[in-house]
Amino acid sequence: MSILLGVIADDFTGATDIANTLAKEGMRVVQTIGVPDSGALPEANAVVIALKSRTAPVQDAVDWSLGALEWLLGQGAQQIVFKYCSTFDSTPQGNIGPVADALQTRLGEKRTVICPAFPENGRIVKVGHLYVNGTPLHESPMRDHPLTPMWDSSLKALMGAQSQGTVGEVGLDVVRQGPAAISAAMAAIEDNYIAVDATTDDDLRTIGGALANSRLLSGGSGIATGLPQNYLDQGQLTSFSKPGLPAVVGRSLILSGSASVATQSQVAYAKARMPAIEVNLDRVAEQSGYIDEICDWVLGRDASDPVLVYGTSSGEVLRRNQEKYGVAKSGEMLENTLSQVASTLASEGFTRIVVAGGETSGAVVSALGIKTLQIRDEIAPGVPWCEVPGTPARAIALKSGNFGQESFFIDALEMLE
Ligand code: ADP
Repeated sequence: MSILLGVIADDFTGATDIANTLAKEGMRVVQTIGVPDSGALPEANAVVIALKSRTAPVQDAVDWSLGALEWLLGQGAQQIVFKYCSTFDSTPQGNIGPVADALQTRLGEKRTVICPAFPENGRIVKVGHLYVNGTPLHESPMRDHPLTPMWDSSLKALMGAQSQGTVGEVGLDVVRQGPAAISAAMAAIEDNYIAVDATTDDDLRTIGGALANSRLLSGGSGIATGLPQNYLDQGQLTSFSKPGLPAVVGRSLILSGSASVATQSQVAYAKARMPAIEVNLDRVAEQSGYIDEICDWVLGRDASDPVLVYGTSSGEVLRRNQEKYGVAKSGEMLENTLSQVASTLASEGFTRIVVAGGETSGAVVSALGIKTLQIRDEIAPGVPWCEVPGTPARAIALKSGNFGQESFFIDALEMLE
């Protein structure tokens, strides 16, 4: 198998997000959890490697990303996309900057596009600044993110703080002139990175057209919107319509470890409509049988009801947990709890699982031992149902914290009925 496009995604929800974009645009996509070790993958034109590198130690993130790059190059990938969040989730130390620098160096690339725009979810880039639903990134709820609180909205400032390289800009006026104008503007820029404005899907398609010959690109899932068309135009790709999900028999579980504003309203909505249990981190710390207790409680609910297990809380509880146990440790405690709950319940007939939170999804999918995912029906922009290959049929949806409407969890499960 020789693939056209390889994606290195810095978290698992981001990976399903970009895999979903590529699948919608006609590519056969497989998402792998980490670098595949051995064995044949299903036939694909694009492989998305999901890493849990967003908040890992910088050197780990770089090493894992370079490992993923080598594997993708070994499969014949002509283009590589480094996928990060459309809210540029990172700190002044990384990991977007150091990973992008390392990928650039390995590929011998001089200039790489930076384009986190995802207009369908309210994230746009204008005059080099990232906005979330009209608010500058660092004034949006992302300023309070538990792991990557965002401190600026200028891509030049954000990337400048964490990369060895310099950042130039291509404005919307140029983008609207078409692919040739973008290519000419990019060629005239000496900087290592080029932040490109985009406020609509049409802009992303135009930018995609200008990047047909770029070996390395970086951005949110939106940067992939226009790429499949290049392969279709070049006769390298025959458009493929993904199949829908097979019937998935079994119980339904929602695991929420995101503290994001959208997830808070989704948890409140779901709690009023299904059995739900909150994870208490003090009990995680103090009581060895606590996770079993949660699982027993879930197993005791009516088998026809979905069940919600959540750590999503008010900002007050989050801050108290972080002060008491530390930011990284408290996050890990919740991720580990939800992962253990997932693996116990998966062996008890829970075959339909929705996870909210990027880091949380990484922890849960790893604990479940899932190696590959196939993208199926879209639940909300950026969030597809995924089929876990094998029997019995299993479905999992990985939702980035801020994605989805209030009724997301219920809507997702209704799609399986
Ligand atoms: P998102 O997609 O919203 O960024 P993530 O799962 O990536 O969600 O990140 C949220 C992080 O915050 C996780 O590490 C999670 O364990 C942690 N977290 C969420 N709620 C709490 C809480 N109440 N106390 C401590 N940590 C929390």
